[in-house]
Amino acid sequence: MSADVDLDEEKYEKHREAGEIVIEVRAEAVDRIEVGASHLELAEWVERRIRELGGKPAFPMNISIDEEAAHATPGVDDDETFGEEMINVDIGVHVDGWIADTAITVDLSGQDELVEASAEALDAAIEMIEPGINTGVLGDVIGRTIEGYGYNPVVNLTGHGLGHWEQHTTPNIPNRKVSQGVELAVGDVVAIEPFATDGGGKVKEGSDEEIFALESEGSVRDRNARQVLDQVTEEYRTLPFATRWLDADRTGMALRRLKREDIVHGYSVLKEEEGCYVSQKEHTVIVTEDGCEVTTR
Ligand code: MN
Ligand code: MN
Repeated sequence: MSADVDLDEEKYEKHREAGEIVIEVRAEAVDRIEVGASHLELAEWVERRIRELGGKPAFPMNISIDEEAAHATPGVDDDETFGEEMINVDIGVHVDGWIADTAITVDLSGQDELVEASAEALDAAIEMIEPGINTGVLGDVIGRTIEGYGYNPVVNLTGHGLGHWEQHTTPNIPNRKVSQGVELAVGDVVAIEPFATDGGGKVKEGSDEEIFALESEGSVRDRNARQVLDQVTEEYRTLPFATRWLDADRTGMALRRLKREDIVHGYSVLKEEEGCYVSQKEHTVIVTEDGCEVTTR
């Protein structure tokens, strides 16, 4: 984008509005996390609250526990409650498709340093953002900050651009030094999200899948699958959705059919090795002439 981008343009106003909503909801969500509280009640409360405040969830609230890093959200009948764990909550709000994406670790496991590592890495990266900054340089400062605490950055998860109705677009913002970065420009909207771990720093796909998104257009004959497809196309478009957001009967079978036809894809829960912990912190920023504006802080 050129330097004459108008940051008062309506789309940026909507990014800001989404940010204001998510700031409030995130604070309230953090207050509700305590040993014994229900994952499902929290996620449903958060998603309802976003709507009350005039936004819509940009994706299902992620609640990742201990070694889980991303893509975990409660299922329809989830009965899990919080224990003395490391809890990452990742919340997204959109206003007319313009997104604010933010995450924070609520630690009930007593590991302050691991939480600080990702938080400080995020602050250090935000501090450096300005037009022309290379994403590889941001990745380097993120990685080195986390390593300074004696932990590893999760290198196969990255920050990302935020597009209209698009949760993940270019550019990637790596969590380690890379040589092939790109330069940020005025008007770019990006989510920066360092993950720190006492594990090896590479997450793997688990078997659980509760979050899905439309992958391509298509049609299906099965009635339930068609009902799911209609609802997703209408309400969520290309944004991620949860099984529990669907109105159809037998959604499991409907989603399997849609996946088989490559109309929908699933997001497996991403996790470190069992017994490890992952902390995460994320903000959305708009690159400005002289730095950046954090919409979620
Ligand atoms: Mn996020
Ligand atoms: Mn993100």
